[in-house]
Amino acid sequence: MTTVNCPSCAKPVEWSETSEFRPFCSKKCQLIDLGDWATEAHSIPAAPSGNMADHIDEEAIAEQFEQQQKSFFNND
Ligand SMILES: [Zn+2]
Repeated sequence: MTTVNCPSCAKPVEWSETSEFRPFCSKKCQLIDLGDWATEAHSIPAAPSGNMADHIDEEAIAEQFEQQQKSFFNND
């Protein structure tokens, strides 16, 4: 069995189909990390690679994050 540490809270997470939010332990930690990632991405002026895919990924992730946040708060 493989376990990884949740990037947000360092809790061990089983790397299997039952861990829906792997490598995160929960949806909450996934959202926290996505938020951090988006903040970091926007604070970096230019990626060294200059890859167009980076820009597309950033928009897609930001949109996904927004949608997840909405459903996260609706579930509360
Ligand atoms: Zn966690």
